[in-house]
Amino acid sequence: MTLRTLESLGSLEGKRVIVRCDLNVPLRDGVITDDGRVRASLPTLNALINAGARVIVCSHLGRPDGAPDPQYSLEPVAQRLSELLGAPVAFARDTVGESAQDAVSSLEDGGVVVIENLRFNAGETAKDDATRQAFAAELAKLGDVLVSDGFGVVHRKQASVYELAELLPSAAGLLIETELDVLDRLTEKPERPYAVVLGGSKVSDKLGVISHLLPRVDRILVGGGMLFTFLKAQGHAVASSLLEEDQLDVVRGYIAEAEERGVELVLPTDVLVAASFSADAAHEVAAADAIEATAFGASGIGLDIGPETAARFAEVIRGSKTVFWNGPMGVFEFPAFAAGTKTVAQALTEVDGLSVVGGGDSAAAVRQLGFTDDQFGHISTGGGASLEFLEGKKLPGLEVLGWA
Ligand code: ADP
Ligand code: MG
Repeated sequence: MTLRTLESLGSLEGKRVIVRCDLNVPLRDGVITDDGRVRASLPTLNALINAGARVIVCSHLGRPDGAPDPQYSLEPVAQRLSELLGAPVAFARDTVGESAQDAVSSLEDGGVVVIENLRFNAGETAKDDATRQAFAAELAKLGDVLVSDGFGVVHRKQASVYELAELLPSAAGLLIETELDVLDRLTEKPERPYAVVLGGSKVSDKLGVISHLLPRVDRILVGGGMLFTFLKAQGHAVASSLLEEDQLDVVRGYIAEAEERGVELVLPTDVLVAASFSADAAHEVAAADAIEATAFGASGIGLDIGPETAARFAEVIRGSKTVFWNGPMGVFEFPAFAAGTKTVAQALTEVDGLSVVGGGDSAAAVRQLGFTDDQFGHISTGGGASLEFLEGKKLPGLEVLGWA
């Protein structure tokens, strides 16, 4: 079966079209620091507007606890969307309540409303199927059809991603189509050598992908928060750095399996260690086997890969024909700890082949560091979703749209 696309929905003129986007942008003090995901939603939204649809945009933002929380309001996102579309965008102060219903009934053909954060409702992410179904049924009352375009959430079985797509006639939007085209190129006969670069802070989430990637790739480079679990597994002390103590055996297993399979596992040889987790912390470069030997002793925190490691990673990346990167190499939000991420990003722009950056923070990092989207083969809006796709997993939010 193949993915149902927009054409499968027939004429959308005058129809109420719910669009499930992923507008989960990074915010600082209510200001959007990277609007990449809003921009990525524009092709589908413009297509629907041009088709004369009444467009109801929904998304999650952050991880509110199933109840309204002003710091996670989508209102600044609705404003940004309006600027980018060059057209007014209404905003509803609730998701399925009176405000949303009123806003939807006031829509004209080609009009757009953003409804409030889906995750202000416990039903969106509920574990229990019936609770999700009940919330999806509330959402379904707002529209005639669903266009699912939040690529960053297709690996989640959540009400607006899965159950809603079963309740309404549904199809994938243009962003999902584009993302899948690129990911197909990464899974079907990728040009070799094929390297995957992993970093970031969701250590236990991302460790799991390694076992699935080992049979598929030639090289795995490990930076970011997860590198310390590897160094510790090799017997090195890591001071107060991010560590998943209960994953040490798992990681030892990966190191052994990589060797058996002939996969090159590229681990850091040096690390940038800081006195504390802060932008202006004192810091020193330490060898990977001497992290506790800095002036900060056992209280030091590794916040970036070191310069020798960054140079080695860059060399391996430039010598690969296919590269997928998810997860910043260090705490790039602090300029003093952004160098590793910058060097890796630069190397990706020099790949003679296909380079893909995936993940919300990774995408934000490359733009914040001054790179532009056109320097990479593709910047994916989905980190977890891309990784699960590359692992060969079935993604519920795609299966429900006919993809197999
Ligand atoms: P993505 O959104 O690209 O999938 P993650 O959400 O997994 O990536 O991780 C991004 C975060 O990882 C960034 O906010 C960054 O500060 C953090 N990070 C990177 N390296 C470290 C480290 N050594 N210690 C703590 N946090 C880190
Ligand atoms: Mg993230």
